Amino acid sequence: MSEKIRVKNPLVEIDGDEMARIIWHFIKEKLIKPFVDVDIRYYDLSITNRDRTDDQITVDAAYAIREAGVGVKCATITPNAARVEEYKLKKQWKSPNGTIRSILDGTVFRKPIIMKNIPPMVRRWKKPIIIGRHAYGDIYKNVELVVDGPGRAELVFIPDGGGEKRVLNIHEFKCPGVIMGMHNTEDSVRSFAKACINYALGEKQDLWFGAKDTISKKYHGFFRDIFADEAEKVKDRFQENGIHYRYFLIDDAVAQVMKSEGGMLWACMNYDGDVMSDMVATGFGSLGLMASVLVSPDGKYEFEAAHGTVVRHYYEHLKGNPTSTNSIASIFAWTGALSKRGDIDNTPDVLKFAETLENAVISTVESGIMTKDLMLIADPPVDKYALTEEFLDAVAGRLKKAL
Ligand code: NAP
Ligand code: MG
Repeated sequence: MSEKIRVKNPLVEIDGDEMARIIWHFIKEKLIKPFVDVDIRYYDLSITNRDRTDDQITVDAAYAIREAGVGVKCATITPNAARVEEYKLKKQWKSPNGTIRSILDGTVFRKPIIMKNIPPMVRRWKKPIIIGRHAYGDIYKNVELVVDGPGRAELVFIPDGGGEKRVLNIHEFKCPGVIMGMHNTEDSVRSFAKACINYALGEKQDLWFGAKDTISKKYHGFFRDIFADEAEKVKDRFQENGIHYRYFLIDDAVAQVMKSEGGMLWACMNYDGDVMSDMVATGFGSLGLMASVLVSPDGKYEFEAAHGTVVRHYYEHLKGNPTSTNSIASIFAWTGALSKRGDIDNTPDVLKFAETLENAVISTVESGIMTKDLMLIADPPVDKYALTEEFLDAVAGRLKKAL
């Protein structure tokens, strides 16, 4: 290899915390910087820097992605009470992913990375099952009430500007019970449907959507109708790309996904996405093999690993003990971001580099060199696992040869 591959436009890099941050820096030093010349807009979202800037750095990073169009993010701590104590924080800062997601109005897609010797638990799965989760409303923004005795519950809507009040009877309680109210909005569901459609077109994969509209004729029916409406608008583009939109009852969707070979984008309502993404991630092997991308309806992208900061490994690392942390999902965050950059900038050599790096990772694992989490599920079995840096060095060696 002679000179570095030039990336035409800037890339936003968001740094993070703990073990994820350690592997992040190894990846940059060993797999990116030696080969690629890219104008990085760097934002340090470590918990200490978020605390120092009163979380302004998170907002700035999200706006930087809006401007540049593509970002890549390391896993970050979402502080709870214990973390406030551990890092002596001013307060329990909000989830950075939540902040960035709401500024970009984005949808999160999770895609497993597949290797021949890491077989999925479901034998038929051959291609990735990508899950798109609607990240607004339903039970995640609900109100609930435990009632302690007989009484009547009503659903009431009072229009602004003085239209007629609408009242529905929920239940006449004869004994104690429980009530819940939840909502969603047309804007949010439509943005979600559009983000899923764009992603399906980008990946050239069928789009599936499931809901329970036989039971919930209005609520779930609302989602079904918006999806159908948005899919109808892009019918020709789906046809040109040889892909299809399919609506299922959610229970049928689950059955069809299990029986399928994979290879579809499965758009899920909020709760379904929460539950099913964990099932699919586990079914494909390891959290270390799950890539994640946030896509805004106007086509801005943020790539990351689905896993967190791998805190247990970090504490071992701090004690000076060797670790075997899987860096694959973080490497794929970089390759995802670089290939999106190459795609938008129309620079095939950047796309080619990202593909070469992904192939170097896959062939390293397929040759039997892998971290401990994968060793435990590899077939054929391997008898030895690589340490964090040993794995990265093996990938770097293959990458150099391939370029
Ligand atoms: P986690 O960091 O994903 O780790 C959970 C466990 O999964 C690990 O302890 C490890 O199991 C295994 N694991 C995950 N990634 C791995 C990898 N790359 N290589 C090997 N094993 C891996 O989740 P968590 O412990 O629930 O959360 C830790 C911190 O991360 C929290 O502060 C949370 O707020 C944050 N978090 C951030 C994001 C994000 O930024 N996107 C997402 C989730 C969580 P063993 O310990 O058994 O080896
Ligand atoms: Mg979940």
